[in-house]
Amino acid sequence: MADPIHHRVIVLGSGPAGYTAAIYAGRANLKPVVIQGLQPGGQLTITTEVDNFPGFENGTQGPELMQKMEAQAARFGTEVIFDTVMKCDLSKRPFTLYCDSDDVYTCDTLIISTGASARWLGLDAEKRLGGFGVSACATCDGFFYKDQEVAVVGGGDTAVEEALFLTNFAKKVYVIHRRDALRAEKYMQDRMFANDKVEPVWDSVVEDILGDPGAGGVTALKLRNVKTDAISELPINGVFIAIGHQPNTEPFGDQLEKDDSGYLITKPDSTATSIEGVFAAGDVQDSIYRQAVTAAGSGCMAALEAERFLAAQEGDATRK
Ligand code: NDP
Repeated sequence: MADPIHHRVIVLGSGPAGYTAAIYAGRANLKPVVIQGLQPGGQLTITTEVDNFPGFENGTQGPELMQKMEAQAARFGTEVIFDTVMKCDLSKRPFTLYCDSDDVYTCDTLIISTGASARWLGLDAEKRLGGFGVSACATCDGFFYKDQEVAVVGGGDTAVEEALFLTNFAKKVYVIHRRDALRAEKYMQDRMFANDKVEPVWDSVVEDILGDPGAGGVTALKLRNVKTDAISELPINGVFIAIGHQPNTEPFGDQLEKDDSGYLITKPDSTATSIEGVFAAGDVQDSIYRQAVTAAGSGCMAALEAERFLAAQEGDATRK
């Protein structure tokens, strides 16, 4: 095992929460380190337009926004490491982090901003046909469906956004939703209903995804109407699953308190977790708002709290 590399503040994850935490910790002269994780830049790197991040009156592109945040963090002395933490020991300070590269880090305070990942329906076919017509990212894969027919599963903002994006390529986009009303914002719904290429399929769930990875991939969805139990087949060339996200907490095992959905629990009006010196910010601890701007806000809180925590620790050490 490599000798551990010690830092005062380590930030896990490189989305808006992680980089905002790094900007604040950097400005406090704490020389933070960001371990980027599997998806450098986080979920915004797989979206296109971001219209609701304040300061961009004409919107901005997700990947560009994240590049700017990274550059801003670097300007204040942040070291950004391309690696992923696989497990960690939070039972004592300094905390120990074990990375995919076999590098080991220790830190006095840890800011967890590992975000959330797309949820899947849990069908075997999702694994079998993943990359062969099954995707959770229209921005990444939509381009392959020029003039074809595709489906999006879900009824939230993500599903509607994905469906609208896919209309740039596909000739028809079905939105399969398990109810007869969307959860998405009214403004997004209006845009979707105004688009001739999009056809909602209400009260329906996907029972199976049909196709052969060796012979052109996905060919159809097997649908069940939840009101009548009628089974039907919908011929399509690709399906995009957009049914929400789950928090990325695997490296922490059961060491930190979580809610029933697996989100890290933080103290009220704070980013403090159940372990002193470990703070959580962004989607990994937020099942309600899940916005770039709220993630950035909680990243700021985490850095300020980490700074106070270190100052208190160092004050105690000086008094001893
Ligand atoms: P949501 O949790 O908001 O929506 C998930 C959707 O998937 C719901 O319609 C839900 O149905 C459906 N669903 C969940 N589980 C299943 C299942 N097993 N089978 C079938 N359908 C299922 O997630 P989103 O990812 O859409 O959005 C997350 C957050 O991000 C929200 O706060 C959203 O506002 C925000 N967001 C904002 C955007 C923007 O402002 N531009 C863009 C994208 C997301 P049901 O409705 O019946 O529960």
